[in-house]
Amino acid sequence: MIGNKTAVLITGGAGFIGTNLCEYFLSKGYFVICLDNFATGFRHNVTPFLNNENFRLIEGDIRNLETCKVAVTDVDYVLHQAALGSVPRSINDPITTNDVNVSGFLNMLSASKEAQVKRFVYAASSSTYGDSESLPKVEDVIGKPLSPYAITKYVNELYADIFNKTYGLETVGLRYFNVFGRKQDPNGAYAAVIPKFVMQLMKHESPIINGDGNFSRDFTYIDNVIQMNELAMLSENPEAINTVYNTAFGDRTTLNDMVTSLKEYLSDFDSEISNIPIIHGPNRVGDIPHSLASIDKAKKLLNYNPKYSFQQGLKEAVKWYWDNLK
Ligand code: NAD
Repeated sequence: MIGNKTAVLITGGAGFIGTNLCEYFLSKGYFVICLDNFATGFRHNVTPFLNNENFRLIEGDIRNLETCKVAVTDVDYVLHQAALGSVPRSINDPITTNDVNVSGFLNMLSASKEAQVKRFVYAASSSTYGDSESLPKVEDVIGKPLSPYAITKYVNELYADIFNKTYGLETVGLRYFNVFGRKQDPNGAYAAVIPKFVMQLMKHESPIINGDGNFSRDFTYIDNVIQMNELAMLSENPEAINTVYNTAFGDRTTLNDMVTSLKEYLSDFDSEISNIPIIHGPNRVGDIPHSLASIDKAKKLLNYNPKYSFQQGLKEAVKWYWDNLK
């Protein structure tokens, strides 16, 4: 507790998902601490919170154990989002990805255990399914990792499990599936596909789809992810903790269909966008062909009830990008 408020530490709180979590938990009356080193997150994401007396920004690196210890002081819950995302980034620089995603994760777990936080909820990843071809993905059937990034995210799950069994720290892992929505960074070499394509189309540039566009993804709107974090953090069902959950909508969309919808929604703002041609390039190393989550476990144990389908979320996201970044 900080003052009379329940305190939530959101690592990576200046990034896409973290910033949305900060905003949500502040709106719910929590004291929110954001720990971020701005490696891929942005100061402008947290600027609106700086005048809020229930918000504290700690600029620091999870690779530093002392920083993690300071950050968890008086904290009730940790929502650990800080990591270096992106499969291609991890292929280009596996050492740094491992340092942040594994050593940094271990620092945060260790600091959380020592501070006796009530629960440690962390961002896991659908990449943990690796080369498993079964669809839909169910939590206990995984394949071999296909990238250094996927290894780091799987190692997170193994460490979280051991910290629960060995030290009694309550943990919940959320395997995010291709999250998208407001405040996701559209720029840079490692930008996610939806914001990148939105920006290109708004500039009347042709998006380049890797491969023939028939690969599919369980694109998940940010508000469904926020709901999962809140449920995982507060669940009082003993069977629901110390495990991992698919965090998705539970439907899949091909890249081609995704771009068609993007063009349609953006055309409401600028009719010329409907005529922009799409280019196809080669497949990308480490990409799996299809991804679709079973969300039965989250529904059963956490009462998860995602409110936004892909299409509903995409409409919201497109409007946000048009209003904020055009
Ligand atoms: P993001 O890059 O926007 O956010 C990550 C944040 O972590 C950034 O603000 C960054 O500055 C911070 N960070 C990085 N290294 C740090 C360090 N050493 N110390 C402190 N802070 C550090 O990415 P995101 O999409 O918001 O992802 C959040 C989490 O969700 C990550 O753990 C990511 O691996 C996971 N995830 C995301 C997706 C997705 O579709 N976006 C899918 C699966 C898993």
